[in-house]
Amino acid sequence: VSARILVVEDEPLIRELVTANLVHAGYTVTAVATVAEADRELATRVHAAAIVDVMLPGPNDGFGLVARARRAGATLPIMFLTARGEVQTRIHGFETGADDYLVKPFDIGELLARLRALLRRVPNHRDASRFNLGPLWANLTTGEALTHEGSLVLSDKELKLLRLFASSEGEVLSRADILEDVWGMDRFPTDRTVDNFILRLRKLFEPTPESPRHFITLRSRGYMYRK
Ligand code: CA
Repeated sequence: VSARILVVEDEPLIRELVTANLVHAGYTVTAVATVAEADRELATRVHAAAIVDVMLPGPNDGFGLVARARRAGATLPIMFLTARGEVQTRIHGFETGADDYLVKPFDIGELLARLRALLRRVPNHRDASRFNLGPLWANLTTGEALTHEGSLVLSDKELKLLRLFASSEGEVLSRADILEDVWGMDRFPTDRTVDNFILRLRKLFEPTPESPRHFITLRSRGYMYRK
């Protein structure tokens, strides 16, 4: 499977030039012209990197788009394209959350080389602050998540339970283990409470919640999370 790259550029000629060259280089490309389309793409699909034009029509430019994506927990590498090469603009771009910056007119060979460098910099090790299941994910620090119910913020208990599962992959967790870790010993919810929260995680993240393959029930022993 080739890496999917999001291209956000309102000028058709540049969008088509970048897209054609990325496809030729073996990438899968999602190309959009507006901030609204880019928001939708970022919320519903996983991209290996994004190339974002700064000057986009509408009240929100490329800076706004990237700032919002970062606040929502997006960690993908992002390269800005812009005609504005002034130092202050560059600094603003990096503060917004960009990883690289290319000034128009640019050489397409340089764009491809910079993109390869960005993709190489993405750490291969599993990010401990992030939970992924297929295209769905959760930020285990902030609780922000992309789920079957859309973008949302997990409740405190949902987040604690998800963290427990993510850190105990492949281990059997009894209901008592879960109660102690998530609810603490000062409160006494019923076993049914645990079951309800597991059902909730399945509903949010399992490809087929009614036949779970990741948050598994082990009869009379408890639960186990597996990738
Ligand atoms: Ca533009």
